Amino acid sequence: MATPAVEGAAVVALRAVLQRVRLAAEKSGRRADDVRVVAVSKTKPLALIDQLYGVGHRCFGENYVQEIVDKAPQLPEDIEWHFVGHLQSKKAKALLTAVPNLAMVEGVDNEKVANNLDRAVSNIGREPLKVLVQVNTSGEVSKSGVNPSECVDLVKHVKLDCPNLVFSGLMTIGMPDYTSTPENFKSLLSCRAEVCKALGITESQCELSMGMSGDFEQAIEMGSTNVRIGSTIFGPRDYSKK
Ligand SMILES: *Cc1c(COP(=O)(O)O)cnc(C)c1O
Repeated sequence: MATPAVEGAAVVALRAVLQRVRLAAEKSGRRADDVRVVAVSKTKPLALIDQLYGVGHRCFGENYVQEIVDKAPQLPEDIEWHFVGHLQSKKAKALLTAVPNLAMVEGVDNEKVANNLDRAVSNIGREPLKVLVQVNTSGEVSKSGVNPSECVDLVKHVKLDCPNLVFSGLMTIGMPDYTSTPENFKSLLSCRAEVCKALGITESQCELSMGMSGDFEQAIEMGSTNVRIGSTIFGPRDYSKK
């Protein structure tokens, strides 16, 4: 692909991130292709998403239902949208109706939201929806996600009682100041071990989404398969423009 003489800042930043992802993947004996970079575009304008789309990036993440419902229909259909973070169960239907190309919900943290997503997929008649179960590995009450000790039960519910969902793995956020990063990530790794044992699946059948702008290299080196990167690609968030 010809490189334009002047690239937008987001494109330059994406390229730098992809290079850092590649190095981190190689350090852990993996290929960059084995790590999915979700560009978290919340509060960012369509034009910036379009710029990254223009250089071939397809995977984007949003965190507010109203925002993704507004944006997705205005952008190409082959975007692989991820809803990241807590989803209110009453909004599951609106999300799936407006975003038929929703690829994954990274943040199922209770049975009710799982049930509502399952029902909405069935009503719409779309293909089954991939979901990650969100685990609260930092123990902060303000954070959503199941406690590590409740993780297997929620995974079993998704796997056994939600035929229109595809259980795809586990996701965590960790402490916002990144102080507990290795412990939080280790906690998610032990949840995965328990889940794989309880379900009789291999680790390669259970994705891990951990790592954001401040800690994605460490997350990859510890085995993360998905990283959710916002501000390092798009610059600081501007909530006044949401
Ligand atoms: C906003 C957001 C991100 C991206 O955060 P950055 O620190 O800007 O990379 C990742 N995950 C979730 C759930 C988010 O809401």
